Amino acid sequence: MSDLPPKLPMPGTVYLVGAGPGDPGLLTLRGAECLSRADIVLYDGLVNPLLLRHTHARAERTCRAEGPQGRVIQQEEINQRLVEAALSGKTVVRLKGGDPFIFGRGSEEAAALAAAGIPFEVVPGITAATAAAVYTGISLTHRDHASAVAFITGHEDPTKQSSLDYRALAAFPGTLVFYMGLHRLPTIVQSLADAGKPTSTPVCVVSRATQPRQRTVTGTLAEIAGLAKAADLHAPSLVIIGECVRVREQAHWFEDRPLFGQSIGIARPADQATEIGLRAVELGALPVFLPTIEIAPPDDWQDVDAVLPRLGEFDWIVFSSVNGVEGLLGRLWQTGRDVRALAAARLAVIGPGTAQALEKFALRADLVPPEFRAEALAEVLRPHVAGKRVLWARASRGRDVLSTALVAAGARVEELVVYQNRDVHELPAAALHELEAGQLDWIALSSPSIARNLARLVTDAARHHIGTRTRLVSISPVTTAAAKEVGLPIAVEATEYTWNGLFAAMIAAVHS
Ligand code: SAH
Repeated sequence: MSDLPPKLPMPGTVYLVGAGPGDPGLLTLRGAECLSRADIVLYDGLVNPLLLRHTHARAERTCRAEGPQGRVIQQEEINQRLVEAALSGKTVVRLKGGDPFIFGRGSEEAAALAAAGIPFEVVPGITAATAAAVYTGISLTHRDHASAVAFITGHEDPTKQSSLDYRALAAFPGTLVFYMGLHRLPTIVQSLADAGKPTSTPVCVVSRATQPRQRTVTGTLAEIAGLAKAADLHAPSLVIIGECVRVREQAHWFEDRPLFGQSIGIARPADQATEIGLRAVELGALPVFLPTIEIAPPDDWQDVDAVLPRLGEFDWIVFSSVNGVEGLLGRLWQTGRDVRALAAARLAVIGPGTAQALEKFALRADLVPPEFRAEALAEVLRPHVAGKRVLWARASRGRDVLSTALVAAGARVEELVVYQNRDVHELPAAALHELEAGQLDWIALSSPSIARNLARLVTDAARHHIGTRTRLVSISPVTTAAAKEVGLPIAVEATEYTWNGLFAAMIAAVHS
């Protein structure tokens, strides 16, 4: 089939992709596909940065209105950047909140591309109105209450020259949804009431829909402006007006998630935090990434490369982390070998996460301790290792419990550093800001070194909230002890020493 056109996405093309309303799961498959093949991604301020995990491209945020160095790039400049990047042969993704063509100026970007002769494709997204309705339990077209729905911009000022006919809107036989209407809410409801809309009509304002900080305020047309002001809602928000709002009480589900609204600082190296972040999202929580250490390859591979040809001589290979698996087996693959080099070596891992990392290389762990820590791993290995050759794929630093215990059990242990574990020098500014503002509910500490590092990286303003506004949850007694040593009070300790255990501990604490 040689006459098939080349596989899309194609270089030199711009993909205008709808990023959905904020929940990182609400992206289309086509959108994810475009991201995975992009060279450059330009994304706007409404887009959840967790979506960038689909891409290896250089990603740039085009809207940085908040923050001290904040600068909003003008639409003209964005159009021009898209054209230039495409002309230089790049595959470009322009990622826009919700659906690109619903109040998003996506059509202007498409027009600029068309005018410049740049090939483009538009990938629809889930728009805020339908997502907000579903995530708050409202059916915009509930058959008992509405036979139509209107999407309206609240950005226009109805007291000035407006294209909106409030009399027609008041008489509209269905649900009204106002985008960009929060700050004009008093004028909007007043205009509708003046035009004859019954003031008893139910209204729901949904802020940050589909996100862990989603909030809803419900009231009548007469009272909603006051209620929304009192609730101090934040952008982005939209306003749903109509009888269908009444049904909400029976149908809400999103806000019932076990960690709904909790913000959790995830103190993990950046490259391992995404999966945990997505798990937090699934539980209804907001992940805030606080990387305290970074994982890097060894300075050189000499020592590792020297061991690879004789991997088959070991009776046991022991992995005490996912990085250990990826470090050793990744290098094995890179240097042209594969897992057959392990021959009959048996494999021991510290826990289920590490076992899963082996599965990616089609390998099964022979031994997983019932408790996921070094002492327990040493304990289960002890009966098997007397007189045996053991290779431990380890980090550049960390505890030596494992090798000491195995040597004591009569093993011939070789330690091989397959990755470096380095300190970062400061926390990301946005995350530190949340911490200093007392906006974090939790920080999850998943190892003793992370606990020590966090103590080093928190500023005085942040430390002030730790133990009060921000609770610390520890993965194990060893981590708890390390945290206490550096003056970090642990509020809760996991009973299962895994990330699932950490989440379970937070759920139990929140619901106690
Ligand atoms: N293209 C986007 C809308 C862009 S206009 C879409 O299809 O959703 C920006 C407006 O969208 C905001 O002012 C707000 O009214 C609404 N909006 C976007 N995301 C939202 C969210 N997560 N929750 C509530 N409203 C949202």
